[in-house]
Amino acid sequence: MELLTIGAFARVVRLSPKALRLYDELGLLRPARVDPLSGYRLYSPDQVGQARLVAWLRRLGMPLARIRGVCGLPPGQAAAEVRAYWAQVEADTAARRGLASFLVEQLSEEDTTMTVALKYAVRTDQGLVRDANQDVGYAGDRLLAVADGFGARGEPLSSVAVEALAPLDTAIPAGELLNALADAVHRAGAAVGDYLSAHPAEGCSGTTLTAMVLSGSRLGLVHVGDARVYLLRGGALFRITHDHTAVQSLIAEGRLTEEEAWSHPQRSLLVRALTGAAVEPDLALHDALPGDRYLLCTDGLHAVVPEAGVREVLVSEREPEEAGRRLVELANAAGGPDNVVCVVADVVAA
Ligand code: MG
Repeated sequence: MELLTIGAFARVVRLSPKALRLYDELGLLRPARVDPLSGYRLYSPDQVGQARLVAWLRRLGMPLARIRGVCGLPPGQAAAEVRAYWAQVEADTAARRGLASFLVEQLSEEDTTMTVALKYAVRTDQGLVRDANQDVGYAGDRLLAVADGFGARGEPLSSVAVEALAPLDTAIPAGELLNALADAVHRAGAAVGDYLSAHPAEGCSGTTLTAMVLSGSRLGLVHVGDARVYLLRGGALFRITHDHTAVQSLIAEGRLTEEEAWSHPQRSLLVRALTGAAVEPDLALHDALPGDRYLLCTDGLHAVVPEAGVREVLVSEREPEEAGRRLVELANAAGGPDNVVCVVADVVAA
């Protein structure tokens, strides 16, 4: 096969010779041959496809090391890699979008007088299989929280984390909500780390932490782990948190379906939790409208009770207390394989 000069090859692939030299230097596309006398780069016509692929992947914003990996794969696997990369970009963008709107809200001159209040109940249960309850829930006039401890020190770590949030159960000016939430999670993480240093244990211990704080007519949300927050509004149920689990990442990347995830043996494997190391929580801001009903629950509920069952209870039970009691009943009717905690809170006109 006759080799092409860099100029001829550049014209065929519609890239500049400069770009081709850069790809060579970065190890993304080596010339088929370099003339030992002149140093000229020569390319084979069957490198056209790869050169175009490199150009497209760079346009996508994929990091160089990852492009190198993709170029070495057969097409099917390369497709999966591109899909996984893009799912990651979208997840990162979604997290930054939430943060951006939080900042916009916070920096806007908002009327912060409290026009709504919360009517709430907490219900927790050991379940039918576990020999201790490591789940903790909290509900107050301004703060709602659930934590699911795991490992040998799972309890008291879940309590340690929730107690660290207690200062949030007070009137926080809207302009300080974002910092207050971030500080509180930092405090909770440090408290978990301190406890583990003082009480070392075998294996990994830690806790999830999911909380909402009422400020004015807004609810700030902070979330680490696989507890969930659901919002019942106008009869429809919305899940407003993303599970920080390995399985959820696989779903986002299109490598696993929701149905496959439901029975995955490692479905509860966490990728983010409070274990003493630094952790980035998800932060978001939601409107608190009279008539809204929020449910914060650990995986002891959502892993065994389908959303339709959760919705039915939230729609039909008038009192938060009764809704919480029935949700725990459903978890135990489904085998009660795990501890469970439910916080049900209604937004009411103040
Ligand atoms: Mg659990």
